[in-house]
Amino acid sequence: MLCRICKDRGKRNKAVIFLRHHRLALCEKHFLEWFEKQVEKTIKKFRMFTRKETVLVAVSGGKDSLSLWKVLIALGYKTLGLHINLGIERWNYSKTSEEICREFAEKNGAELVVFSLKERFGFSIEEIAREARRKDVCSVCGTFKRYVMNLVAKERGINVIATGHNLDDEAALLLSNTMRWEIGYLGRQSPVLPEEAGFPKKVKPFAFQTEKETVSYAILNGIRFMETGCPNAKESTSKTFKRALAMIEHEMPGTKLRFYKEFLKKARPLFEKELKKELELRRCTECGMPTTQEICSVCSILKRVRENAKSRDN
Ligand code: SF4
Ligand code: ZN
Ligand code: ZN
Repeated sequence: MLCRICKDRGKRNKAVIFLRHHRLALCEKHFLEWFEKQVEKTIKKFRMFTRKETVLVAVSGGKDSLSLWKVLIALGYKTLGLHINLGIERWNYSKTSEEICREFAEKNGAELVVFSLKERFGFSIEEIAREARRKDVCSVCGTFKRYVMNLVAKERGINVIATGHNLDDEAALLLSNTMRWEIGYLGRQSPVLPEEAGFPKKVKPFAFQTEKETVSYAILNGIRFMETGCPNAKESTSKTFKRALAMIEHEMPGTKLRFYKEFLKKARPLFEKELKKELELRRCTECGMPTTQEICSVCSILKRVRENAKSRDN
């Protein structure tokens, strides 16, 4: 298969990727250009940030987040990487993830902040979940990751946080929320959540790019990324929804993108209206971060963790 852009210019360069839903075959150079242009379009369309602002990029060491950091650097945006070291020792997971993020930052002349849960709170994420008697490490992990991102943004005076969620993630989330009619989550699902009540703006510049595209961008740029997932990642429901969507996409290319785009255009505004009444935030009496309770979830989990650890040690 030949690259469409090269062919239009009278050259016969082989394509390295075929994007079925766009019916587009591209060579390496034109795929990288096309990909960056698409991301820039999303950033501009949703007014995510400008070149004057610093963007806090949450990097796990995986392909999506590192590709995102690379694109933003390539497009000339000001970035600060944030890696949260969760203290997971199995498979050397946290140590290797941190190493990979540090290596990326060094190679690309970018600044990286590493926030270690063990150093800041005294416990790894697995210890926190165990001491708090919470079976689902991942839900505790999600709460802590969101908290740390907000905290670091606040400490650094940054107003925008970018994450590497791609179209496959967003479409699977949408399907899962729709199946359960989770009105609150549906109203909040968007490539951009505006800054509100002390929380920085949250943006997903890869919301319209497929996982195939983000992984290809990483590989073609020679980015080293974590190939093994976290040892706590089990067969989640989101994987089931991803598989179902992949099956539909195979039969009807373009469905995933249409599903998500049409939701944003037609359905989300209706759910969003419902939300406006709900959100009332105040300051956590322990840490001062915005919360709906008197004490935020992180402070109340940590309080429980410390009490349980202390009573066990005595
Ligand atoms: Fe955290 Fe679970 Fe993801 Fe591991 S799999 S990083 S514990 S959310
Ligand atoms: Zn080409
Ligand atoms: Zn708090």
